Amino acid sequence: MSQELNFKQELVGCFGFPVAENPTQAMIEPAFRALGLDWRYLTLEVKPEDLPAAVAGARAFGFQGFNCTIPHKVAVIEHLDGLGESASLMGAVNCVVNRDGKFIGENTDGKGFVSSFRELADPTGQSMLLLGAGGAARAIGVEMALAGVRRITLANRSEERGRELEALLKGPVTEATGGGLEVNYLPWDGDIEVPEGTGIVVNATSIGLFPDVDARVALDVDTLTPEMVVADVIPNPPRTRLVREATERGCQVIDGLGMLVAQGVIGIEYWTGQTPDPAVMRSALEEVFGA
Ligand code: NDP
Repeated sequence: MSQELNFKQELVGCFGFPVAENPTQAMIEPAFRALGLDWRYLTLEVKPEDLPAAVAGARAFGFQGFNCTIPHKVAVIEHLDGLGESASLMGAVNCVVNRDGKFIGENTDGKGFVSSFRELADPTGQSMLLLGAGGAARAIGVEMALAGVRRITLANRSEERGRELEALLKGPVTEATGGGLEVNYLPWDGDIEVPEGTGIVVNATSIGLFPDVDARVALDVDTLTPEMVVADVIPNPPRTRLVREATERGCQVIDGLGMLVAQGVIGIEYWTGQTPDPAVMRSALEEVFGA
């Protein structure tokens, strides 16, 4: 008796420019294999002027969704059919999901951070020092506030961008949380001391990213204490200078791979409806980064 054969894979991928160094495929495809799914994750170089055609192409090919990275996270929005709550608050999409033929924009960066944080502690009622005001900081600030953080002290090199994030957190995000969020902007000149009562310290800048691995986050690390959770978004290398210094001071630490894997887990759940094994994904990335 002949069995039914299927040579058609389901497709997802990543649109970016440049994109060749994006490691997402290296963790997503092993996760698909471990789930027994014949899916493909394509790393696709899409120039800014080609984004409309690329999204139309994804529709034509029946993509189940795709990640967006620099420079498409904001530009993609006008080509989509709708936005999830956090993507709408942040004004940025990093994960598009095909829901019944409609492309819906989500943002999994901050959700991934929250999920890796929850493995260590409960964010409810906590105070957080957030360094940076770019895409990653925005995502983390918004989702941690929605997850129950009650005080955010924010510092950024450029005051203008810092104030923009402050306004977002004080306005629409505070409203979405039902009120009670306290947000303070701190000018970042010289080493920042961790404010009294802080439980969470996050480097959400690109300081320390390969090849500038010795670059130092201007933070007085002697003000880190063992009750704090210290997180660094830098995925390459995972053991940044801040991660090492925080570990030496007895803090619990989340490295950039923790966040990368956790947001990948959420993306796969959105696309396939199945939950992948994060250990498979982390070890695939560790192999790539020689960690
Ligand atoms: P953006 O370009 O949007 O923001 C960069 C941020 O870093 C800004 O706040 C910028 O400050 C700050 N910055 C850069 N260089 C310095 C410096 N020398 N001193 C002080 N501040 C500096 O990038 P993203 O937010 O998208 O990404 C930031 C990092 O997060 C990247 O390294 C990326 O790899 C990582 N990331 C990790 C993820 C993960 O899953 N692990 C997910 C998403 C991002 P200013 O505004 O003054 O320029």
